[in-house]
Amino acid sequence: HAKQEGRNQFAMYQSTFDEGEYKRFLFKSQFVKALADRQFYLDYQPRVELDSGEIQSLEALVRWNHPDQGIVGPMEFITLAEETGFIMPLGEWVFQEACRQIKEWQQKDLPPVRVAINVSPKQFLQPSFVNKIKEILRVNDIKPSCIEIEITESALMKDEPHIIDALKVIKGMGISLSIDDFGTGYSSLQYLKTFKFDALKIDRSFIKDLPQDKALTKMIISLARKLKLKVIAEGVETHEQHTWLLNSGCHQAQGYLYSKPLGASDVEYILNE
Ligand code: C2E
Ligand code: MG
Ligand code: MG
Ligand code: MG
Repeated sequence: HAKQEGRNQFAMYQSTFDEGEYKRFLFKSQFVKALADRQFYLDYQPRVELDSGEIQSLEALVRWNHPDQGIVGPMEFITLAEETGFIMPLGEWVFQEACRQIKEWQQKDLPPVRVAINVSPKQFLQPSFVNKIKEILRVNDIKPSCIEIEITESALMKDEPHIIDALKVIKGMGISLSIDDFGTGYSSLQYLKTFKFDALKIDRSFIKDLPQDKALTKMIISLARKLKLKVIAEGVETHEQHTWLLNSGCHQAQGYLYSKPLGASDVEYILNE
């Protein structure tokens, strides 16, 4: 019924609040309690090696188990978290939780998997961001090679020196770096020269058009391979897409064809299979 309350509040404030302001107001009023009450959790989506079918890595995706709205996906709240500054504590929680989970899986002797974590460009505004990552790895006793950071191409396009500097340190620590949603930024490829990324993830909007409309995906795969980056296809949903990607030299794929994002216990189940 808080949803109801929310509506009343909106009615009450709408003379002074626009909808965006209202959403931020509501998010701010709920976030701290949500974090403390452990309403956030991570699902993990397997990434499949196209040639062997093996799962060597997973992408961690945050969800909010909201007391009134049920399970809310990140598209609904990451932007709000960025706009309100709460992306810092949320992002830190995501990092901490992913590392805790990796340690738990290691202790259960599961086959080793790397976990890819999405990092918002706003998180790099925190001067202590890199040190926090180091501390979380140290406390959880996790090797940097167990972690990958995904940063969107549009964040890299901003060409902000503090982001590039932090990425250099992170890369130097031995954490893998991948470019998320590749192909959706603008076409300056300058940032590819700043240092060596490990992987490039082709945005789902290109994969959706396969195999009919393949020119751009072909070009992205060939670019990645020339730069010796791993290429990962996002959002693979059909066998035709899978076959085309395999035959076109794409290394890994992620998508509903293989698996939806899974809870930690389902991950254990499939890794033990
Ligand atoms: P992303 O990093 O590009 O993640 C892939 C999104 O595509 C996920 O949506 C995933 O569930 C969805 N997906 C995977 N396979 C398929 C498929 O075959 N078909 C379709 N239609 N969708 C597929 P999700 O979980 O809703 O996440 C959306 C975005 O939210 C992510 O896009 C990422 O940018 C952001 N995000 C998620 N978790 C975090 C986080 O912890 N921190 C930050 N900063 N952003 C996050
Ligand atoms: Mg991602
Ligand atoms: Mg993506
Ligand atoms: Mg995406």
